[in-house]
Amino acid sequence: MVVVQWRFHWRDLFRNIKGYIAWKVLQVALTFYSLTYNIHMSQSYVVDCLLEPIFWFVDNFAGYLGKVFVFCVTFLTTAVVVIAYWLGLPYWWERSPYMTVFLVLFGNWLLLNVAFHYYMGVTTSPGYPPDGALIAEAASICKKCISPKPPRTHHCSVCDRCVLCMDHHCPWLNNCVGYYNARYFFLYMAYMVAGVTFIIMAGFDLGYQVLWVNDNGGITHENDPELIGHPVRLNRSGVFVPVQVIAEYDADHSPRVHDLPIPVITEAQRITANPMKRKAVVFMTVMCLSVFFALGTLTILHARNISRGETSIESHINATLRKTHTKHQFRNPYNCGRIKNWKLFLGLTQGRTFLRHVLMPSPHPPNGTGLSWHTVNNAIEDWP
Ligand SMILES: [Zn+2]
Ligand SMILES: [Zn+2]
Repeated sequence: MVVVQWRFHWRDLFRNIKGYIAWKVLQVALTFYSLTYNIHMSQSYVVDCLLEPIFWFVDNFAGYLGKVFVFCVTFLTTAVVVIAYWLGLPYWWERSPYMTVFLVLFGNWLLLNVAFHYYMGVTTSPGYPPDGALIAEAASICKKCISPKPPRTHHCSVCDRCVLCMDHHCPWLNNCVGYYNARYFFLYMAYMVAGVTFIIMAGFDLGYQVLWVNDNGGITHENDPELIGHPVRLNRSGVFVPVQVIAEYDADHSPRVHDLPIPVITEAQRITANPMKRKAVVFMTVMCLSVFFALGTLTILHARNISRGETSIESHINATLRKTHTKHQFRNPYNCGRIKNWKLFLGLTQGRTFLRHVLMPSPHPPNGTGLSWHTVNNAIEDWP
């Protein structure tokens, strides 16, 4: 008789489990590869696929979101300006009336430029290729519009049409940034950054006093306007009557108390003591600092693109071309040197000046039509 004896080995068990898991992983991988295999598969293809839902969302809802964004920008900017007047004006007036006048004038000059460039950025059409007209230098055909595309023109999927010298579609403007409104867009950003920098500098001491120095410390029992007339007991000391009442008693009973110093309440202390005003200071701090860093970075990036004679779209395309080509093979044809690039971008030709046409609101259009472009290969002498 044969006795069959089962022997249990831990090692076998682990080997079996490992084999089973490996087989399952292989099955999943095989299924995944067989479903997604594509000869063009690359890292950027995968990234494009993963971003597809975001593109879909932007394509379908950016139109509605744009209006909400424009409302938010207008509302928040107005709130910041109103608070700057509400808190800043009495604060600065107490310190120096002359300085207050200067700050009001300077601040309103910035505000005028912010409002003008934002309004123009929102309402100015970026420029579209003309329907049916002959385009002398069509660079390609738009697959979506089925019409010729002038150089530097790109198709905006949000606007669903081709845009001249397209930079990007800006939800904050609810508009495409292109040939006719790029200057407004850039100057809006620059003036907005200048504006928040101005508020941060003018309100720095006030914010510091309210949020740091005075926080629970600046208003004492002697000068708290809410406690005047109400006796208070501090820890184990005797009952203490806030100062105005002491002064009143003093007139009737004891002349000695006249010598008590009457505390001076500063505007910063008054603001700290008022919960609404204190919240407004916190709001201003958060708003101004976040706009400063976010918009400041964007302004620097756009300024770099302008210096190079590129739009945002071209900066991506050219970055790829620079990687795949040598210096001799690739050169941005629209880069005419830093100074000329800036002059063309700001429209400072035909006798226009920085003082009048950049520091002051100016509705001048850019040179040319946006349909054909001077390139560094053209004769540069006959440029405007
Ligand atoms: Zn198109
Ligand atoms: Zn657009």
